[in-house]
Amino acid sequence: MERRSKLSAYTAKRDFTRTQEPIAAPNRKREIAEHLFVIQKHAARRLHYDFRLAMEGVLRSWAVPKGLPFEQGERRLAVHVEDHPLEYANFEGTIPAGEYGGGTVMVWDFGTYRVIGDEPVRAYRSGKLHLELKGKKLKGEWALVRGRRRDDEKSEPWFLIKTGASARPISARRDNQSAATGRTMKQIAGEKPISSETANR
Ligand code: MN
Repeated sequence: MERRSKLSAYTAKRDFTRTQEPIAAPNRKREIAEHLFVIQKHAARRLHYDFRLAMEGVLRSWAVPKGLPFEQGERRLAVHVEDHPLEYANFEGTIPAGEYGGGTVMVWDFGTYRVIGDEPVRAYRSGKLHLELKGKKLKGEWALVRGRRRDDEKSEPWFLIKTGASARPISARRDNQSAATGRTMKQIAGEKPISSETANR
């Protein structure tokens, strides 16, 4: 029940007779997936990267419009968006034009995360997640930090910040290659959606 209510915004935004995105359903892999992170490259109206952390049986999600920071101290806006079902970590495909988030989605990176010095749910609630990522592409420290709401804003902005040492930027070739299937955005767009087993790893 609790899980369903967390995903009601996700369900309300989508027409599952039209999109191949996963329907929110009870998930037995909750414990296994709890340390999973996934980043999806999403060529919607505006290209962005969706940064997701498995927590409490869902994927907490942020959309990063300007790409990921690699240089120490570099900070990017991360728009906090609705929780996604865990199954979404496997989703690679194209959401039809005209539907919510219409465009191609690639599993850009995935792996495990750890919150340094805190418990994930507590850190999330407090608005400061100091992360260690062990992904196929991203390795090292980043932080997700909730900022202060300005008068003209509806909610607090979040930022993704490169902490620790600078990381080497990802090459253009790897940037356009799925960490799950090796496919490019163009290849994904031209094929039927497939489900890899990201959440089981
Ligand atoms: Mn997106």
